[in-house]
Order: sequence, then structure tokens, then C-alpha cells
Amino acid sequence: MKKKHFSVLVILLLLTGCSKQLDDVNWKFWEYFTNDTAEEVVEETPTEEEPVEEEQPEESPQTEAPPETNENQYVLEEPFFTVLNEEKVIENTENLLVLVNKNQSLPADYVPKDLTIPDVPFSFEGDYEKKYLREAAARALEELFAAAEAENVEIFAVSGYRSYETQYGIYNTYLKKWGEEKTNAVSAIPGHSEHQTGLAMDISSRSAALDLTEEFGNTPEGKWVKEHASEHGFIIRYPEDGEVITGYQYEPWHLRYVGKEVAAYIDEHDLTLEEFFDRAIKQ
Ligand SMILES: [Zn+2]
Repeated sequence: MKKKHFSVLVILLLLTGCSKQLDDVNWKFWEYFTNDTAEEVVEETPTEEEPVEEEQPEESPQTEAPPETNENQYVLEEPFFTVLNEEKVIENTENLLVLVNKNQSLPADYVPKDLTIPDVPFSFEGDYEKKYLREAAARALEELFAAAEAENVEIFAVSGYRSYETQYGIYNTYLKKWGEEKTNAVSAIPGHSEHQTGLAMDISSRSAALDLTEEFGNTPEGKWVKEHASEHGFIIRYPEDGEVITGYQYEPWHLRYVGKEVAAYIDEHDLTLEEFFDRAIKQ
């Protein structure tokens, strides 16, 4: 290619014969043939810059490194994180890992769409809303109760889904009886109860007089549940000494469905659901 161009240049030079034009062409001629080297230099420049660009992610490995490498973190798909509006009211209410607590609430009109009665023994008769759970939680509860029965552990479901209106009634009854401080330690402000999610079930045993008391945690049934709940997708939502984080006293009877994988992680690392979300990172 360049030989051809060179020949054309020589012909042009011969044809012109003008020294001014010759100088001009000579310069272009020289520039053309030194261009190879110039091009090589230009090509080398970006390759020299590449390692500099690679150094940037190395300076912040926490954002770039695969999250699985850190055993303290849990990688969770984005839809499982609770989305709040400006008033801290939950927007993605159907999320099975929805985090309801004293800081964030469900909308007053939220009713789960897939409520169903789990096929387990209840501590009472009749068709009340507190028998209901969301589908996934109901099936998991049946599994937990079947596992308990297989080991001759007799437990009863006491209270599951609770509507905003019911919680409103309970809260105000306690408020009149006990005052705000004591009421807030044991009862949720309407919208802030996990029972409205349809993912929580209170349980008890005959040995605890079918009551919801701390004593249940000391019974053989309470101990069995604490040991095996996570195998079936449940956590003890308000653990002992967790009040500073959860805002609630120890409730060995209050089970929350989170699915087997998350329950196993929470159990293994001895976390509250709040602490779990502090560690979880979005995938
Ligand atoms: Zn409860």
C-alpha cells in the first residue's frame, strides 16, 4: 500500500517542480512515513492506562468483591427488602420477608390476599381471623407441627393473623388499663403488629396452660420449638435480651415465618430480623 502511495508522491513531485509545493509535499511525505511510529505510540498509550483503571476497584473491594466471600453477609434478592414511603408505611406488603416493627408499619387497609387456615391443633374452637395465616406460612406451620407430633411434642396454635381493626381494639384496651409505656412494651400500635402480615403465629402448650407467657420458653415444648423452628422456616421473632433491637420483651411463643434459608441463617448467627437486614446485601 505505502509503496503505491510513495510512487504517486514521486510522480506528483516530478510533475510539480515548484520548490514551495515540494517543501509542502516533502513535509507530508515525511509525516506519512513517520506516522507508523506515531500510530504505534498512540496504540500503546491506552494499554498503559488500563492497569491504572483496574486499580480503582481494588481500592474499594467491598463494593466490587463477590458478596458470598464474606460469611457475615447474606445475599438477598432486592424484592425481599422492605420498601417504605415517606411516612414509613410499607409499600411492598406482599413480600414474604416484610419487616414490620415500631419504626415502620403496614397500611391500615392491608389484608393479605392468600389467607388460609393451617391444618394444626388450635387452643380454641371456632372460625376466627386469628386462625388464619398466609399460604406459605400455613404450610410451613403444618410441617413444624407434624415434626413436633412425630416426637410426641404437643403444641397448639393460639393466634395468627390479626387485622388492623382488631389490633386497634387490643391496643386501646391495654392503653386504658396500663398506660402508654407498659402497653408499648407488649402491644403494637395498629399497623405496627407483625400479626397483620399473616406471617406470624403465637403458639403454646398445655404445660404453659395454653397461655402466651415467658414460661412457655422453659417448657419442654417451648425448648423443642426453639431448637427446631428454623428447620421449618420460622424464627423466634422477639428473642431473649433482644428488646433493645426489636422493641419487644422476650416472646418465646411468637413465631415468624421467613422461609427455611433465612431462618437457618438467623438461627445460626443468633440474630433478630432487624439485625439480619443490617447484614443482608442486595443482589
Ligand atoms: Zn405474637
